[in-house]
Amino acid sequence: MRYDLVMLTYEHIEFLRENILNYLPRPYVNVGGRYNFRCPFCGDSKKSATKKRGWWYAASDCSFYCFNCGTAFTGLKFLEALAGPSAFEDLKRQYLRLFLKSGLGNALSVDFGLKREDSNSTELNIFNFKRELDPEWKKPLSEKARQYLEQRLVLDAPFLKEPIYSTYNTATNDEYILIPWKINGVDAYWQTNDFQKLGSMKYIFPKDKKKLIYGIDNVDPSYKKIIVFEGVYDSLFVKNGVASGTKAITEWQMKILKQRWPSHEIVVSFDNDVSGIASMIKLINRDDVDVKFFRWFTKDTKQKDINELVLARKNPDIFKDPKRIDRMIFGKLEMKMWLVLNGLWKKEPLNKSRDIPDEDIESRGSTLRKRCSLLNS
Ligand SMILES: [Zn+2]
Repeated sequence: MRYDLVMLTYEHIEFLRENILNYLPRPYVNVGGRYNFRCPFCGDSKKSATKKRGWWYAASDCSFYCFNCGTAFTGLKFLEALAGPSAFEDLKRQYLRLFLKSGLGNALSVDFGLKREDSNSTELNIFNFKRELDPEWKKPLSEKARQYLEQRLVLDAPFLKEPIYSTYNTATNDEYILIPWKINGVDAYWQTNDFQKLGSMKYIFPKDKKKLIYGIDNVDPSYKKIIVFEGVYDSLFVKNGVASGTKAITEWQMKILKQRWPSHEIVVSFDNDVSGIASMIKLINRDDVDVKFFRWFTKDTKQKDINELVLARKNPDIFKDPKRIDRMIFGKLEMKMWLVLNGLWKKEPLNKSRDIPDEDIESRGSTLRKRCSLLNS
């Protein structure tokens, strides 16, 4: 095995690719993974405005070379040169954090990254997720989109760490809000928000791809809980909030969380409505799933979700304080007792027609579902 390949692997090439692409001088031409553009360091030919002699080798080692001035950089140095010192400080921090705090940094073997698997592979390796989002789709937030997000206080959310974009359907030019789902700095998944209600689906996800987890890179390692929401916007208001995009959390998503943050406790949060309560009851009845519940509402809370509550209180910071959040986290039995005392506990209806894909934990066979009989009997 070549030593330089080992080093590159350790540098986590996908992170470099993703971030260099963000800063790459435009326009560029992608020639089979090699990107060609005017060299940003020498300005290329002074006589010809079309001469492009800068090359970035994205498909191999992410290095840069200019055939005019001879400037050569390794991937990390190239990123530093493009991003500038202050942005690079931040990127470097992200980069180090990914490895040092993941609990997996020491386990990176020399084989990592040499064989890439896609996210539908059954073997989970969170360092192997590939970019799923075409960087060309990311356009600056339009004024309309910004207004929508501002109205929902999303842009003031205390845990909004990753940029949100506008994107456009190339055929119709319809605009959507685009939310990349990063894992280890790679846009491994994404969703769009049809904020103008052009179609019937409020949120759209990539086809035929298992849902990953939104916000996993932003988990604070020192707060040992991860709170899983269905929606990205809700998750941005809560310390260590992440989003699953589903009514519960799939086994695959549970694995991703456990692999990346093995010592964190998984807490799920549901909407304060009929379907939220029903999902909660289902999960309480599953004794093979080890989770706690984030009960952010009381019997008198009118708001359906965290975002609505934040808007009603006109304060995006109400779920920022971990001590406050801790008081809203309950085990299954406590959660069940609360539901019973408030007249919300219902026996799970026997429903054969399930609308949830089969990787979802809710749709597992009934042999796995043993009823908690304590209060039922
Ligand atoms: Zn040059």
